[in-house]
Amino acid sequence: MQIITNYINGQLVAPRAGRYLDVYDPSRGRVYARAPDSDAEDLERAIRAAQDAFPDWSNRSVQERHRVLVRVADLLEARREELALAESLDSGKPLALARRVDIPRASQNFRFFATSILHFHTEAHEMDHRAINYTLRHPLGVVACISPWNLPLYLLTWKIAPALAAGNTVVAKPSEITPMTASLLAGICREAGLPPGVLNVLHGHGHRIGAALVAHPRIKAISFTGSTRTGAEIARVAAPHFKKLSLELGGKNPNIIFADCQYERTLDTTLRSSFTNQGQICLCGSRIFVERPLYERFRDDLVARARKLAIGDPRAAQNQLGAVVSRAHLEKILSHFELAREEGGRVLCGGKRVRVGGEFAEGYFLPPTVIEGLSPQCRTNQEEIFGPVVSIIPFDTEAEVLHYANDISYGLSATLWTENLSRAHRMARVLEAGIVWINTWLLRDLRTPFGGMKNSGLGREGGLEALRFFTEAKNVCIQYGE
Ligand code: NAD
Repeated sequence: MQIITNYINGQLVAPRAGRYLDVYDPSRGRVYARAPDSDAEDLERAIRAAQDAFPDWSNRSVQERHRVLVRVADLLEARREELALAESLDSGKPLALARRVDIPRASQNFRFFATSILHFHTEAHEMDHRAINYTLRHPLGVVACISPWNLPLYLLTWKIAPALAAGNTVVAKPSEITPMTASLLAGICREAGLPPGVLNVLHGHGHRIGAALVAHPRIKAISFTGSTRTGAEIARVAAPHFKKLSLELGGKNPNIIFADCQYERTLDTTLRSSFTNQGQICLCGSRIFVERPLYERFRDDLVARARKLAIGDPRAAQNQLGAVVSRAHLEKILSHFELAREEGGRVLCGGKRVRVGGEFAEGYFLPPTVIEGLSPQCRTNQEEIFGPVVSIIPFDTEAEVLHYANDISYGLSATLWTENLSRAHRMARVLEAGIVWINTWLLRDLRTPFGGMKNSGLGREGGLEALRFFTEAKNVCIQYGE
C-alpha cells in the first residue's frame, strides 16, 4: 500500500490529523494507495508557507524563475516512464496514452511557461504627445490551482506552471480520485530547487479541503478545471470576495461532418475524438452530426471500427481503451445507457459493462458505445456523460446542423469536417464554442487562448491569457507636456 503525503513548505508531510482517503486502481477495482484527507490545519500551514515564500519568489529575476521551472520540465521528461506508469495505474488510462500525451505535455507546460515569462511584456499608450501610460503587471500573491481526474498531471501543471512563472506562490489541490502524479511532482519540484513554500500540494476531498481553499481570505485567484456544477459553487463562494476566477468546465461538443469531408481522415479522427481516454476528455466530440448522403456509410464504418478497439489491462500495448476512473463514474455512465434506451435510442455497439478476466475481473471497463435515433434535444444529447459514448445524428442543411450544435447550454469546443473553405470559415464564426477545430481535433498550440463559452467556463487559459490571469495590471499615467 502506497502512502501519499502532502507537500508543504518544501517538505513531504503527513496530514496533521492522520486521516487518509482510499485511492483505487480502476483497472482492478481495488484500493492500492492512501492519500491525505487534509483539514483546515493543513490548509493554514500551506497558506502560511505560500505567503512567506511570496516576497522572495516574486522578487527573483525572471531568469531565475525560468531556470528553476526548466529544471522541473527536464526532470518530468527524464522520469516520463515512472510518471506514465503512475498515471495509468491511478486513472485507468492506457499506459501508451500517458506516455505519449499526459507526461510529455506536463513537461511542455513547464517548459512553455518558463520560456513565455522571458517574453512577457506590457503595453504603453501614448496620448497626443502630451502623456504616456504604461502598464505594470505584478504577481497576485497566493493562488489556488484545482484540477480534475481525467488528465491529472497534464491539467495540474497547465495551471501551476504559469502561476509560478508569473511570480505567484501556489496551493494546489489535485483530484482526490487521482492524487499520485501530483505527489510525484512535489518531489520533482523539490529536486529541481524550487524554494520551500513556492508550491504546496494539499490532497483531500473537494467539498472539504477544496471548498476551504477557495473560501480562504488569503487566496487571491482560483484557477479551476472540473465540472460545471463545482465551477458554479466556486463562483458563488469567490464572487463576494472579488477573487480572480478562471473556470474551465464541462462540455458536450459537436462533431460536424459534411459529405465533402476527407473520408478516411475524418473517420480515423472521429474514432479518436470519441473514445480516447475512454471518452473522458472535456474536448471529446460526443454529438456526431453527419450530412445525410454520408450518414449510413459513416455510421456503419464508425461502429465497425469501434467494435475492433481492444479494451482491457491499461499496461498492455495492444489495448486502446483502459478502465473508466471510478466505480461511481462507471455507474453514472451505465445509467446514461439506460436513459438513452428509455429515450428511444438504438445502441449500435457497446452499451453494457465489459468483464475483463483474471486480475482485472473487478475493473471498471466499458466498451466504445455508439447510439443513434435520439433527438438533439433529449437528455442524452444535452447532458455531459464523459465516457466512451457518442450519439450519431443525420442532418440535411448547414442551418439545421448549426442550430443543433448551438442549441445546448455548453460551449467548449466544436469540430468541423468539410473541404468547403467558405463554409468552414462561415461556421467557425458562429459556432458557440471557445475552440473550433476544422479538419483536425485536439491539435493544440500552447500560445492560443483556451476555454469555453456559456456553461463551459469563464476566462481563458494558455499563452499570454494565463500570464495575464495570474498578474494584476496597474496603469501608470505621466503627463509631460501641456
Ligand atoms: P469535479 O468538479 O468533481 O472536481 C474537480 C476538482 O474540484 C477536484 O479536485 C475536486 O476535489 C475539486 N472540488 C470539488 N468540489 C469542490 C468545491 N466545492 N470547492 C473546491 N474544489 C472542489 O470534476 P471531476 O469529476 O474531477 O472532473 C470531470 C469534469 O471536469 C468534467 O465535467 C469535465 O468536462 C471537466 N473538465 C473540463 C476541462 C476543461 O478544460 N474545460 C478539462 C478537463 C475536465
